[in-house]
Amino acid sequence: MEGKLVIFSAPSGAGKTSIIKYLLDKILSTEFSISATSRKPRENEKNGVDYYFMSVDSFKKKIRNNDFIEFEEVYANVFYGTLNSEVNRILKKNKTVILDMDVKGGLKIKSIFKEKALSIFVKPPSIESLDRRLAKRGLDSKKSIKERLEKSEFEFGFAEKFDIILENKDLDKTKSKAFRIVSEFVMGK
Ligand code: 5GP
Repeated sequence: MEGKLVIFSAPSGAGKTSIIKYLLDKILSTEFSISATSRKPRENEKNGVDYYFMSVDSFKKKIRNNDFIEFEEVYANVFYGTLNSEVNRILKKNKTVILDMDVKGGLKIKSIFKEKALSIFVKPPSIESLDRRLAKRGLDSKKSIKERLEKSEFEFGFAEKFDIILENKDLDKTKSKAFRIVSEFVMGK
């Protein structure tokens, strides 16, 4: 497979989704890799846009068929995975694939694609700031927020393994910095 990939991983609430949306708008030669998940859609999410939503059974069937480049059980009985077909679809158009994934999935993709992939860890200033952002965005239940914060502490430990650590203190500045880094990678040989 030719082409490049940019992987974004971050604890939930670190601002990763806003940064990715900004880059997809600004850099026309990029496209988002829509993951498959067994999580239920949030109110504002659409199937085939944010994720390919499916049951746990359908997800497991795809695992058995070797349809995934990687997959993880990110939360208990909640699966997320990158489909071979999705990454190929984008690479075939000679576009750069932008991926949003948990730390383990991110490092796995990096180990497969090596120098063709750039791995970026978006680091929030602190765990407390994540708690505030998750509560403010109001998309997750209290139980889910607790689960996400516990997972965040685990994810922080992986930051150093990424090519780049992007600290997000000020979202606008972080977006501009991400734009510079990703454009350079996309345009480089
Ligand atoms: P959320 O439920 O907030 O959309 O995502 C939860 C976590 O799953 C986030 O860390 C997100 O990056 C991760 N995730 C989304 N898609 C994938 C994927 O295809 N593979 C892996 N390993 N993680 C994913």
